[in-house]
Amino acid sequence: MVKIAKENVLLLLTGELFGVVAGVIMGVSLRDSDNKWSKRHLSYLRLPGDLFVQMLKMLILPLIMSSIISSLSSVDSKTAGKLGAISLLYYFLTTMVAVTTGIILVMLIQPGKWMVTNIEEVVGEANKAAPCISNAIDTILDLAKALFPENLVEATFRSQKVCMKFLNGTMPVDADIVLKMTTEQRAFLEEVPEKITSDGMNILGLVMFSVAFGITISWIGDEGIPLKLFFKSLETTSMKLISLVIWYSPIGITFLIAAQIVAMKDPGKELQRLMGYMITVLLGLAIHGLVVLPLLMITLARRNPISYVAGMAQALLTALATSSSSATLPLSIKCAEENNGVDPRVTRFVLPLGATINMDGTALYEAVAAIYISQCVGQDLSIGQVILVSLTATLASIGAAGIPQAGIVTMIMVLIAIGLPSNLFILIFPVDFFLDRIRTTVNVHGDAIGAAVVGKLCEGYLKKTPVDDPRQATGY
Ligand code: ASP
Repeated sequence: MVKIAKENVLLLLTGELFGVVAGVIMGVSLRDSDNKWSKRHLSYLRLPGDLFVQMLKMLILPLIMSSIISSLSSVDSKTAGKLGAISLLYYFLTTMVAVTTGIILVMLIQPGKWMVTNIEEVVGEANKAAPCISNAIDTILDLAKALFPENLVEATFRSQKVCMKFLNGTMPVDADIVLKMTTEQRAFLEEVPEKITSDGMNILGLVMFSVAFGITISWIGDEGIPLKLFFKSLETTSMKLISLVIWYSPIGITFLIAAQIVAMKDPGKELQRLMGYMITVLLGLAIHGLVVLPLLMITLARRNPISYVAGMAQALLTALATSSSSATLPLSIKCAEENNGVDPRVTRFVLPLGATINMDGTALYEAVAAIYISQCVGQDLSIGQVILVSLTATLASIGAAGIPQAGIVTMIMVLIAIGLPSNLFILIFPVDFFLDRIRTTVNVHGDAIGAAVVGKLCEGYLKKTPVDDPRQATGY
């Protein structure tokens, strides 16, 4: 495997940290209070950052398919089953813990009651919606369908249509409401169907296909060797490409952050209104990321969480800058293997799966957001509704794609499930771009810790399965 020397890792990390600071300084100095930056000028400023994100995204498809297939084709089916079962159990349990933390905090802090908000001023007259459990069921069915894409080629450019049904007809189309929206809110609304149907690919479907394909190759024995060789070679090449792209990351990070700060509307009044909500989400993310996950690391993986996180720093900074766990995936795999020594057979299966279905930060935020909104509109939730929030928030986080602000779109499902109008998501919209960065970082952190935990729990099985090099069988 192509490795980056230790001193280069440090150099890159310093460059990335410098990128964050430079981005903030550049953003603050270019920002003007009248917000005269046109969309076009902003897109020029973002260009170096967009190039970075696109380079990472370009590598997702070859990397996911080759890494999962070559990882699973090199272990026996028992080990593959064990890896899969432990990963799913770990992901489910940590997501539930995150959701529970969020619910407890928002019920204790009650940020929605901190400041009396004139809801109508923000969203227009909130039309009442009936609690709708069938939307949650539809979402489960859509998720199940996304697992088996009918057309693999289409799956590479079309994300799963999760949540499309529940959004149909429920988004605010009322002219009055739309008139009261800011340009930003309107632009976001216009992008919603785009975000769900076409921004990205159906990674879940591709992961499932690769899992099945990899396991089958290991079953068929010698006849699978040419395929093993092919995917091994594709994997090495993709990882090499990532080692090159990574050198561009300090520049990409600088411009992504600068452009975001320049584009920011003056947050004054909104920030004051949303302060309690932000504190609750950030506190929850801090508890989950700095206490719960490190504890799991110590007790289950028996590793030092501080040095592990230091090894993941490049991936975490990239998550912060890009707000996308999918775009960060190539770096997560690289950091976990090269800096933290996690077995590639684990990282290359557990991390792509995690970037798709394990979003602890998103789940926590969705639960807090939905309950915060219900507090704002003075709707007390019954125990049953709180349980519904925990279930739908978990589901919504699984359904959310690893792209910027996908979480706020799937959060609408949680609102609808407890009978709140979907347009109320606008209440939390002004600060979502910021919280998105932090929750994405926690999502990536959760996946990385998951890789260490699953690696440790499967250690015995993996030792019994020596790393299988297809080249030996062919004398290649
Ligand atoms: N941006 C997040 C991610 O990529 C998803 C979200 O919006 O919560 O992990």
